[in-house]
Amino acid sequence: MATRVDNPFSSERLIQTLLLDAEVSHIRHIKGARARGLSKLGISTVRDLIYHFPFRYDDFSAVVRIADARLGEKQSILGIVDEVTVKHPRKNLSLVEVTVLDGSGVLVATWFNQPWIAKSLKSGTQVLMLGRIEHHFGYKRLSAPLYTVLSSADDAAEAAVDARKAAGIRPVHRATAAVPVALMSKLVREALEATDTVLDPLPVELRIKHGLMSRQSALRAIHFPDDWLEQKQAHKRLAFEEVFYLQLHLIRKRRIDVETGAAFAHLTKAAVIDRLSQALPFKLTVDQEQCIRDIFRDMAVECPMNRLLLGDVGSGKTIVAAYAIAAVHASGTQAAMMAPTEVLAEQYASSLGPLFDAAGIPWALLTSATNRQQREMLLEDLACGRTTVLFGTHALLEPDVAFKHLTLAVIDEQHRFGVAQRLSLKEKGSGCDVLAMSATPIPRSLALTLYGDMEVSYLRSRPRSATKVTTKLLSRSNRGEAYDAVKTALEAGEQAYIICPLISFDKQQAVEQQDQEQAEPELITEFTAELDGEHIKAAEQEVVFLRNKVFPNARIGLMTSRLSSAEKRKVMTDFRSRKIDILVSTTVVEVGVDVPSATVMIIEDADRFGLSQLHQLRGRVGRGTADAKVFLIANPHSDEAKERLKAMVTTNDGFELAEYDLSLRKEGDILGSRQHGATALRLINVIRDSEIIQKAHEDARLILTDDPKLAFPQHRLLAWELGSIFDRERDR
Ligand code: ADP
Ligand code: MG
Repeated sequence: MATRVDNPFSSERLIQTLLLDAEVSHIRHIKGARARGLSKLGISTVRDLIYHFPFRYDDFSAVVRIADARLGEKQSILGIVDEVTVKHPRKNLSLVEVTVLDGSGVLVATWFNQPWIAKSLKSGTQVLMLGRIEHHFGYKRLSAPLYTVLSSADDAAEAAVDARKAAGIRPVHRATAAVPVALMSKLVREALEATDTVLDPLPVELRIKHGLMSRQSALRAIHFPDDWLEQKQAHKRLAFEEVFYLQLHLIRKRRIDVETGAAFAHLTKAAVIDRLSQALPFKLTVDQEQCIRDIFRDMAVECPMNRLLLGDVGSGKTIVAAYAIAAVHASGTQAAMMAPTEVLAEQYASSLGPLFDAAGIPWALLTSATNRQQREMLLEDLACGRTTVLFGTHALLEPDVAFKHLTLAVIDEQHRFGVAQRLSLKEKGSGCDVLAMSATPIPRSLALTLYGDMEVSYLRSRPRSATKVTTKLLSRSNRGEAYDAVKTALEAGEQAYIICPLISFDKQQAVEQQDQEQAEPELITEFTAELDGEHIKAAEQEVVFLRNKVFPNARIGLMTSRLSSAEKRKVMTDFRSRKIDILVSTTVVEVGVDVPSATVMIIEDADRFGLSQLHQLRGRVGRGTADAKVFLIANPHSDEAKERLKAMVTTNDGFELAEYDLSLRKEGDILGSRQHGATALRLINVIRDSEIIQKAHEDARLILTDDPKLAFPQHRLLAWELGSIFDRERDR
C-alpha cells in the first residue's frame, strides 16, 4: 500500500522528525571544524541549527534608482560597474573604489583593505549593493556596502528583474570564523531540506484558531522569506509555539510539584528569628515584612515553595532571604545561597555574616579562594550539619558540596543562572524550598504568565527613599563636570565609581578571562572601535589616565573580570574600607555590590550599555544616607540611543524603565536565553507580545485540564516535543 503524504506517521516524516534531535553532523557538509564551530554557537543538534534564527535580514529586494537614493538611509542599488581603481593612500592601506551606473546616476562604493574586491567587481559586472548612502565630494557614496554579483556578462539587462528577486531578503545568522555567514546560511538550508516534511506538534485546532502556518513552512520562511509578509507570519507561528510550549511545560511542572512534592515544613516562629530582628540596624519596610510573611507561609507547609522575589535594585532583597534562612536554622536544617559572582557571594559574608553571628546562625563562605584544607573542614561541617547556611557562587553546585539536610535554596540574581543550575542546587536537598530573587522588574501579569511555575512577591518601596539619586547626561567634552563632582565627593569623605565598557584594548587576554565569570559579558568585541576620533573607554587604560592626569591625589583602584579572585577580593575590601577612593571598573560591579559610602558614579560611553544594565549600575550608588549623582557620558549617535539615555535621566523607577526598555527591544530579551535555557524564548518579547503570551497561557491550561498527561493521540507529538526541548535543557 502506498504511503499517503499527509499521513502524520508515514515513516519518512517520522524519520525527519527524529532527525531534529540527532547530532548536527547528520546534515550534509557538516563535520570536523564546522561542527566544532557550530558547537561554539551552542548548536549541537539539527534542531539547534534549524532554530538558529537570523538576527537580521538584509533586504536587497527594495532596489531604488541611484538618483532617488536618500542620503543617510540604508538602501539597495542595482547597477553596472563602470570603473574600478585600487589606491594606496598610505603604506599598508589599500582602497578599492568602484563607480556604479544605473542610468539614473552614478555612485561610488569604497572598501578599505579588501583588495580582493577589485577582482570580483570588474567593469561591466552587474551588481546589487546594500548600504547607507553617504555624500562624498558631490557623489553619492557607499562605504563598504554588502554586495552580490548578479552577472558578469553584458547580457545581464533582461535578467535584472529575476536577479533582483533572487537576491531578495537575505538572512544574517550569528556566525563564527569556522562557519561564516554565507556558509551558515547554506548549512541551514541543508538542514531545512533534510527536514522538509517534519511533523507539526501544534494541534491543528490551535493552528486554525490562531491562523498559524505549518511548522515546516514557518521554519523555511523565517530563514528565507520571499517577502516581509511571509517573514511576519512565520515569526507569528514560531513565537506562538515557543511560548506555548513553555507554558505547557511550566504549568505541567508546577502541577506535578504540587501534587507529588513533599517539602520540609519549617518552623517560622522561633527565638532565632527574633534575635535576627534585634540585630538589624534598621527597621524592615512594610514590603519586606509582607514578603517575609509570604515566604514563611510557604515554608511552613509541606507543599514545596517556588517563590520569586522581585524588587528593584536596592529594595533590600538580601535581608528578606536572611529571614528565610533564620527559619531554616530554627528548624534544624540547612540552606544554600548562591550568587552569580564571587564579589556578591563575599558581600553576603560581609553583610549578613555579622547579623547571623549575632543571631547565632552558623554560616560559611565557599569561593575559589577557599584553600584545600579550609574547604575540607567546611565541607565536613556542612555534611554533618554544623553549618546552617553556605554562601557561594555556582561553585556550590560541585558534587562534593554535600549537605546533611538542605531544605532551602536561595538563588540571588536568578536571571543570571540557567534552569539547569537552579535545579541542581535544589536537588542537593530533598523536598527543598526555593527562593529566587531578581531585580529584573517585570509587570505582574507577565511575571505570572512567564513564571507559570512560580509564585511572585514584589518589593516595591525602597528602604531609603529619602536619598536622592540624580542622573545627568553629559557629552564627552563636558566630562569635566562629572570629575568635579567626584572631587567634591572625595572631599566629603565619600567614594566614586567610574565604569568603562571595555576591559582593555588588548583583546586576546580579555577574551580569555571572559569565560571564567558568570557575569554578563563585558564588552570587548569592538576594541578597536573609535568614536569621533576618540577611543571607547577601557578600564585598564583609563585607570592610568585618571591616576596621572585627573586625580593625582586620589587612591584609584581597578576592577575587571580579568583580575584573579584574590585580587578582586582585595580591591573590594579596600574599596569598602575606603583604602580606595575611586573604583574604575567594568560591569563586574553591576550585580548586587553594596558600598553605602559610594555616592558618585560616572558611566563612560553610556550608550554602549542596555537600559537595564545602566539601571543596575546606577543602583550601586545612593545606598547610604547621602544623596548620589550619576553621570552618563555619551555622544549618542542614533535617536534611539538618545531616547534610552533620556529615559534614564527622567526616571529612577526600574519597573518603568523595564517596560520602556522591553517595548524597544526586538528579538530575544532580558528574559531570553538565560531565563529558560537556550531552547526557549528567542522570538518572544514580553511587552510587545503580551497578548500572544496570554493566549498561549490560556490554551496551555485548557489542554492540560482535558489531558493532564498529554496522553491523547493528538497530543502525543506535543508531549514528545516538550520532552525534546525541556528534558534536554535539564541536561545542559
Ligand atoms: P537588593 O535588593 O538590590 O539586593 P540589598 O539587599 O543589597 O538590595 O539592600 C540594599 C541596601 O539597603 C543594603 O545596604 C541594605 O543593608 C539596606 N537595607 C535593606 N533593608 C533596609 C531597611 N529596611 N532599612 C534601611 N536599609 C535597608
Ligand atoms: Mg541583591
